[in-house]
Parts: sequence; structure tokens; C-alpha cells
Amino acid sequence: MPKRDDPAWGRSTVETACPLDCPDTCSLAVTVEKGRITKIDSSDRNTATDGYICNKVRRFGERVYGQDRLLHPGTRRGAKGDARFQQIDWEQALDTVARQMLEIRDRFGAEAILPFSYGGSNGLLSQDTADAQLFRRFGASRLARTVCAAPTTTVSQALYGRMPGVTYADYRYARLIVIWGANPSTSGIHLVPHIRAAVEDGAALVVIDPRRTALAKQADIHLPVKPGTDVAVALSIHRFLFEHGYADERFLSDQTHGADKLRERATEWTTDRAAAVAEVDADLLERVTELYAETSPAVIRCGWGLERNRNGGNAAMAVLALPAVGGKFGKRGGGFSMSSSGALPSPDDRWINVPEPSTRVVNMNHLGRALVEYDDPPVKMLFVYNCNPATTMPDQNRVLRGLRRDDLFTVVFDQVMTDTARWADIVLPATTFLEHYDLAKSYGLGNLQIVQPVIDAVGESLPNVEVFSTLANRLGIEVSTMLHSDPEALMHVAGTLPDAIRTELFGSGIVPAATPISPIQFVDVFPETADRKVNLFPDELQREAPAGLYSYQPDPGSDLYPLALISPASDKTITSTLGELRTRLANLQIHPGDAEARDLHTDDVARVFNANGEVHCTVMLNPNMKRGVVGLPKGLWRKSTLNGSTANALVPDSVTDLGGGACFNDARVEVTRIVTAHLEDQSVAIWTDDSTTKRVH
Ligand code: SF4
Repeated sequence: MPKRDDPAWGRSTVETACPLDCPDTCSLAVTVEKGRITKIDSSDRNTATDGYICNKVRRFGERVYGQDRLLHPGTRRGAKGDARFQQIDWEQALDTVARQMLEIRDRFGAEAILPFSYGGSNGLLSQDTADAQLFRRFGASRLARTVCAAPTTTVSQALYGRMPGVTYADYRYARLIVIWGANPSTSGIHLVPHIRAAVEDGAALVVIDPRRTALAKQADIHLPVKPGTDVAVALSIHRFLFEHGYADERFLSDQTHGADKLRERATEWTTDRAAAVAEVDADLLERVTELYAETSPAVIRCGWGLERNRNGGNAAMAVLALPAVGGKFGKRGGGFSMSSSGALPSPDDRWINVPEPSTRVVNMNHLGRALVEYDDPPVKMLFVYNCNPATTMPDQNRVLRGLRRDDLFTVVFDQVMTDTARWADIVLPATTFLEHYDLAKSYGLGNLQIVQPVIDAVGESLPNVEVFSTLANRLGIEVSTMLHSDPEALMHVAGTLPDAIRTELFGSGIVPAATPISPIQFVDVFPETADRKVNLFPDELQREAPAGLYSYQPDPGSDLYPLALISPASDKTITSTLGELRTRLANLQIHPGDAEARDLHTDDVARVFNANGEVHCTVMLNPNMKRGVVGLPKGLWRKSTLNGSTANALVPDSVTDLGGGACFNDARVEVTRIVTAHLEDQSVAIWTDDSTTKRVH
């Protein structure tokens, strides 16, 4: 990073990497002029992302310098939720937080303090470093960070251990590509050219998704399954493979355990029954089944969309078991891809160096419940970082009720004035990934990269490790000296890597995926289970699943709420990061047939509701939605709807069958029209409380 007395001060380009919650972890070339970011683009350091990055991160400078950026610590002035803060200095801010922590521990016990974090800037140093040492040693409640990927991680680990998936580059060797519950056009965009190359070369493309996504429009078959029914569809394919001689019996005998139990569970799932449950055409499902049975190499891109419901763990398990039963391994371009994060040359977590205490565990999906109902002890302090739970957690209204509590002390340590920060008692300004050192681990492309500051910290913002180690110091808690600053933390964490990998990391800034770079499953890489076999029926999960493994729990819907609401990722935000930059109201996407039945038209203002809450928003008719399914974007901030509620106001806080994940796609709703009119002003609203809209003109 050039300094003022550096000859490069005028203009320079700095190499770094994007650590945001996206599978690709692009290498970035950031242009800095006179100490200010003027352009964010791709770098050729990482050939897999060479040439382009997403438009979201191209705009990241608008977050860095935007009007919502937190520049100083602040203490609340005014009612909770008013977002009025008086500037204080770091000394005062951390003294106040430390004093509150000690008082709460003395009166209620340390478990009354709940640290709350998730992906945020997502680098390895931004969480589970100094923060983990501090909160573990203090004895705070622990957080089960299961809002995303918990079911898929649980089952993929149980079936395959940390076996690397088919790489993006090897998709072009597949003769059949199945995109299941994923939308690479918005997340993991660097897979798309490889899919296109394969299709141009004659590969068949199948997309299984309730929406006709951009790739679904180009697919040979789009199977628009109802949310929550993927497990039934996958089991019907298993049944066909077993019953029609397509199961690879030798592979199942030599390389797997539990195939007979899976076979038994699949028996009841005829194509007709699965099609009826999934509300798809049985002939279409049969074509998908036969295509998968007969084509090789065939690869399944298993996404995270299929896990976000009551059957999510079993759905992921049934999908990930398909290549084993169908004999799809052993060829380049055959097998599956999921998260690659477990397969990387990644540092382990020895740097934490403090054993996990046996304190209370709070599932983050139950935040509202924890704030409103837990009493043994009650949550008296919520310390939020890398996260925006006021908009991203299920059961939003209960979360907001909790944040409104006068007896709750809320600390929010973030880069911008998020919807959660507005409810804080103390706000602390955090650096972005363009202002600190970090390590980025790709869960899609399989590499590890150094993230380095390209500009000085904006305002008085500080990196996570520095703030948590300073706070620990005030509390008399020891944090490793190597975790007191981000450069030290980088050296410390990288120090847990094998020598060769560390040398390569500091030499080139990037370590590619494991060798070979594009492994063939069951040729170059094998399950990292105890005996290197696939565990198709993991007994340890059987105990956890409420209805058993490979089970289907029926739809929770009712006549009152006949529509399934989904909230998929958009091209505007990375979860809720960058949500502050949305300037237009969000639309409810609804199929024209469902709209006609409700006398709804594009631009009408509608009430989307169920027993948990309601969202007031504009309507957009969209023939690409499945009948019976409506959609609101993931990661919306409260200002993006007319009543300050987002999709999560309609999402129950129930958890998935395996892994304790969020059931975002189990929201069942009804929609009615409020106003037949074109809103003249569709710019976003500003919120001063959660019941009154204050339009900005
Ligand atoms: S969000 Fe994803 S696609 Fe965009 S720059 Fe970051 S890693 Fe690349």
C-alpha cells in the first residue's frame, strides 16, 4: 500500500483477493489514486477468475466511502432503533463495553453475553481468532453458526469426508451437467463459462430449481420442483437406478457402506409419486432420470438452495449419493461439486489455542427466541460483528422485538450503519477487506490467498483482531500476542500451514487447490472417511434426523397460506452485504397465473403475509417463477420494502432435519393487493422505527 511519501502515491494497482461469501474468491487488482480506490477489477493472479469479477464487488468502493460508512465509535443518543449516536473515542467505547460485560457477568453469569457473528468479510482472520480467545476465556454463550451450509456440510462430511469436488474447469468434460439448487449466474459466476463450453460441445444440461433461471432457460430440461421436495426427486432417481440395472453394484460393494439401506428407503419413491410431491410433470422427471442413468461423465453441481427447508439435510444427502449409486466417479467430468473448503491447503484452527468451554450453545437461527424467551440466563448483551441479524435471521419480527428490549445492551461492530447497528447501544467501526490483512479461502475454486490492505483504514475503523485483543486486555483476558494486529495474525495463522504451502503463499499470494489441481474423484482423490469408503447411511446422522435418513417430511403449508416463498441470492448483494446500496424498492416475483387469481398486476402494492408477519412491497409478474412459488430477494435491508419487513419476517425459526440450518424456503404465505397504483416514487425508504414508513423524497 503506497504511503504519502512513496513515489507510487500518485497511482498504483494493488493485488488482493475478495474474501466475501461467494465460492469464487476472485483475485483483485485495485487501482488506488492519491490514497483513494478508483477501480476494482480482476487480477490475473488467479487464472480461474482471470478476466472478470462480479458487478457487486466492482461497486465495493461505494461501501468504503459511502454515506452509511461508520467512521467513529458511537454511543446511543435517543430511542433504540433511532440510529442516533454521539461520537466517542475508542477508549471510551471499549471501556463502556468492558464495564458492561463485567457487570453482566457478575449479575447474570457470563453466558448472558451472546457474541453473534457470521460471514461478514469472511476472511480467516476476521473470526475465530482474537474474538474466539476472548469469548471462550470469558465464558460467554457459544453460537452455532448454522444459518447457511450446515446441512450440506454435515452430510457431505458424513458421506465423503473432505473429498474435493469436480473443479469448474472439468465441467467441460462432462456429457451431462445437473445444476441442482444453485444459480451460478449470480453466485459462483466463474462456473458459467465452463458449463457453456460443455453445452457447446454437446453436453446435456439439466437445471433443478423452482425458478427458470438464466441457465434453466438454456437447459435441455428444467425441472421446476416445489421447494422442500428435492429429497423425493433424488430418491426416485435412486429407485430407478437400483431397479433398472443402472446401479453400479461393484462400486457399491467395494467402495461404499449402507447401499442396501438407501435402496430400501428409495423403494417407495416411484417417479409418479415423486413427481406428484414435487409438483412436476412425471414425464419430465422420467427424462431427467433416464438421462442421468445413461450418461457419463455426469456431474452434479449441488447448491445450497435445496438445503433451506425441513428436508434440507436429507435432500443434500440423497443428491450427493447419486454419483456413488449411478457409477459416475472415476472419469474426468464425473461426480459432484459442493463446497471445496474442506479440501484446501487451509490452516487449521490451532491458532485459537483455547479449548471450547462447555457453555450454553445458541443456534443463531433462534436469535429472536433467545432474545425474547431465554431466561437461564437471559441474554443481556448481544455483541454483533460480521453480521446483520436484524435482516438476515429467520423470524425477523421476534428478532426486532428482542433488539428493542431496554434491558439488552447491544454492541455492533461493523463497516456500515446496518439495520442491526441502528439498534445498538454502542457502534464500533470496522475496516473492510480493502483496509486490512486477511486470508481468503475459496470454497468453490479451491485456493488460499492473501488479502492485503490497498488503502489506509477509513475514519477510525479498526480490524477485528485489534479490537478484540484490545477489549480482552481491558477485561484482563489473555489473547495471544500474535493476534494483536492483522499483520501479526496473518503470520501467526499462516504459521500453522505446512512449510511448502506457506512459502508459496507468501511468494505468489496464492496457493492453488490440492495437487493435482483438477483431481478426478476416485482416481486422484478419495473419501476422507475412516476407511476411504462412501458412507451412504451414516448411523451418527440417523440419530439426529427426526424422521430418519432419506426421509421426507410433508409440506407445512395450509389453505390459509398456499404459496411457497423463496428468497434466493440476487445480483445486488452478497447475503446482505452491499444492501445499503440498493436504491429501488424490492419486488415480489409472482407467476402471472398466481397473480391473476389474486387480481394482482405488476407495480401493484401487495401484502405478503402469514402468521409470523407481513411484507408490503411492489409486485412484479414473472413467468419464470413456478406456479405456487413467490420470491423476494435474499439480503434485503429494511428500507427496501414499504413496511420495513423483509422475507425473513415470514420465515419460521424451525431448523433443518440435519445440521440445525435455517428453513428459509419453508415460509408459506398468501398475497393480497393493498393498492392498485404505480408508486410514483420507488426509491427506498428510511426507517426510524419498525412501524412507520418515512419516505425519502
Ligand atoms: S463476490 Fe464472488 S464473483 Fe464477486 S468478486 Fe467476490 S469472489 Fe468474485
